[in-house]
Amino acid sequence: MKAAFLDKPGHISVKDIPVPDYGPDQVLIQIHEVGLCGSDLHYYKEGRIGNHIVKEPHILGHESAGIIAEVGKAVEGLKPGDRVAVEPGVPCLKCNQCLSGRYNLCDSVQFMGAPPYHGTFREYLAHNPLFVHPLPDDVSFTQGALIEPLAVAYNALSKAAIQPGKPLFISGAGPIGAACLELAGIMGASPVIVSEIDGFRGRMAAGMGADAVIDANTEDVGEKILSVTGGEGCEYGIEASGSEAGFQDTVAAVKRGGTVVLIGMGRETVAMPLTEILKKEAAIHGVYRYANCYKPVLRLLGAGKIQGERWITQRYPLAELGNAMEAALSPDTDKLKMIIQVSG
Ligand SMILES: [Zn+2]
Ligand SMILES: [Zn+2]
Repeated sequence: MKAAFLDKPGHISVKDIPVPDYGPDQVLIQIHEVGLCGSDLHYYKEGRIGNHIVKEPHILGHESAGIIAEVGKAVEGLKPGDRVAVEPGVPCLKCNQCLSGRYNLCDSVQFMGAPPYHGTFREYLAHNPLFVHPLPDDVSFTQGALIEPLAVAYNALSKAAIQPGKPLFISGAGPIGAACLELAGIMGASPVIVSEIDGFRGRMAAGMGADAVIDANTEDVGEKILSVTGGEGCEYGIEASGSEAGFQDTVAAVKRGGTVVLIGMGRETVAMPLTEILKKEAAIHGVYRYANCYKPVLRLLGAGKIQGERWITQRYPLAELGNAMEAALSPDTDKLKMIIQVSG
């Protein structure tokens, strides 16, 4: 089978490797589509995220959908031909975090694409069926791949405990910001105000239903929020840009007693407007991946309540993964979400 390896930062090559063996309690999945994630770009450019370091040729990719090719003898409920989304993190299912349901916080999680675990930019994958989710007929492979970023957004919006009719601010209209925007609409947050520095992404957010889009390059986010909310500020703020300025804008956007949710991954340490946070008694939640979020997102996609596909701006075949990475990193490319077509 074909698999795309990051040989070293900035260099990807497609190699032929054997189709993986699968155990009696695993399924073998033919991967069809994989979303290109900001984390893939970090590894491509820098060769590491925190203490996950690419030390040998490594397969990236974790936002995937495909078709079951084979099932192990002990597997129930899945059969060859089933179309599925692949949840990329397989936790230990034994520790206290796992047993309490917060399996995204398991210390032993094997998360695909994060070294040393290979990801899904390859034609076949052996996986634990508990983390394989059948797709309804009218949910496409592209939507199946987008469940991953939507699950991150679902986790973030759950932390904010959105109530209908209350204003929400989203800092950053990249893929995660777009996913938050999709879900915020159906959860009833109103108005939903987005800030973005990229003109293309700002226009995409407006097209996806943001009630107001703030140009974070030229406008004062805190002041603009006050004018849009009649002087009140937002009940909730979600930081999805990963920038220090975005964090500060999000704190500025929420009213006293408001809630700030942090998803964007940027520098390891950022300056924090401490006095403002204290005076506002702002609650601050960190968000890391997701647990038990694939199924609700899948239901919303199956019911046609969220779209997903409208964020896709480019598609590349697996053989052109390196070009996709370069285009994604180029400031000259208008992009929101890219899909890598692995097979099918
Ligand atoms: Zn991702
Ligand atoms: Zn665990």
